Amino acid sequence: MSVVSYIGLGSNLGDSQEILKEAIEKLQSLGQVRVSKLYQSPPMGPQDQPNYFNAVAELVTELEPLALLDELQRFENESGRVRLRRWGERTLDLDLLLYGQENIQNERLTVPHVGILERDFVVIPLLDLDPTIQIAGQSLANLELTQHATLTALADESWINE
Ligand code: ATP
Ligand code: MG
Ligand code: MG
Repeated sequence: MSVVSYIGLGSNLGDSQEILKEAIEKLQSLGQVRVSKLYQSPPMGPQDQPNYFNAVAELVTELEPLALLDELQRFENESGRVRLRRWGERTLDLDLLLYGQENIQNERLTVPHVGILERDFVVIPLLDLDPTIQIAGQSLANLELTQHATLTALADESWINE
């Protein structure tokens, strides 16, 4: 059975736009993909790190949540990701934001991903993909943070073809 999932992508080390493009190509090996615009946003957590490139992908997949997480972590590792400090700089972060309507809570996975509702760099690209998207009955379009978002659109949805 296929499920509509949403993956948050972030990068602030290396050639971030190229790294995110390659990540999208890898996601395409897992199912049908649609992408948001490409954004730049100030870092969360430690401020002495470069701005982030961010996007969200919609992935229609047959994979179970933990199998999907395995793939996402494999892609992160293939990009050369190393963990230095919490919320520190990274070549690639792939977070499973939503998996259908499911609520998942286990050692490896919390879905919906924590902090979605507070992170404009996730909410705004999710709205690109589905302006009516809801989480637990709450419409993201109505969130206060959409009014004073701190991110900048760098390119429209065709950025993956550039
Ligand atoms: P944040 O999760 O706050 O965005 P982060 O992305 O920097 O921080 P990571 O170092 O990428 O955090 O991941 C830490 C752990 O989070 C992973 O080992 C993974 O098992 C766990 N995790 C829990 N829920 C999720 C999820 N929905 N998507 C991805 N990883 C998750
Ligand atoms: Mg993250
Ligand atoms: Mg992560």
